Amino acid sequence: MIKAVLTIDDIASANTPALVDYLVEKHIPALMFAVGEHIEKYPENVIYALQHGMVVGNHSYSHPDFAGIPYEEGIREIEKCEELLEDIYRKAGVERNYRPFRFPYGSKGGKNKDKYEQYFRDNGFSKLDDRKIGYSWWKESGLDKDIDTLWTFDFAEYRIRPGSGFSITNVLKRVHDSDPAEGGVLLEEGSYHIILMHDHEETLAMVPDYYKIMLEHVMENGVTFERPEFL
Ligand SMILES: [Zn+2]
Repeated sequence: MIKAVLTIDDIASANTPALVDYLVEKHIPALMFAVGEHIEKYPENVIYALQHGMVVGNHSYSHPDFAGIPYEEGIREIEKCEELLEDIYRKAGVERNYRPFRFPYGSKGGKNKDKYEQYFRDNGFSKLDDRKIGYSWWKESGLDKDIDTLWTFDFAEYRIRPGSGFSITNVLKRVHDSDPAEGGVLLEEGSYHIILMHDHEETLAMVPDYYKIMLEHVMENGVTFERPEFL
């Protein structure tokens, strides 16, 4: 048995409702991280995700690399997205029970990392339940203590871009990588994962139905998706 929580970054896009429909059809409850600017662009699509049972968390307002901006600017990025999330949950008529956050690019805020983690603790942000992750490096890196949500497996499908030479074949190969340079071995029996994928129109233009191809492939190979729970 391989279990995983599916996380989907950078929502919303024009395709979000179709993505949500697919997740509902496959009984995959996902944790989605929204970019504030994308909430402003596609509010109805975020409402659609909320009303179909997805949890939507904070992925900053404009998706900067937090290692490269002052701490105060980072807090403004987080709080601006928080305001939009409060508003969109209200408009959706869905109670907001959890406040997960994910750093863009997984950068953790560089030298300000500890300050951000303290901010998350002081301001009621939610930690995804990661207690079933068995990788020693998860604890050795202190990730079990961090409030923000990182991942253990990245599909890296955002690398499929014109001229990149990276294709859906490469994405599916990574699923079977038994010695990945980063993250954990996805198909290791008994493992537990936080899987990362993205809601990107650019990827969809390159590979129609990319998310169906990826998710069906991992499910065929024994991965079961669980509801995100928080500590
Ligand atoms: Zn992102």
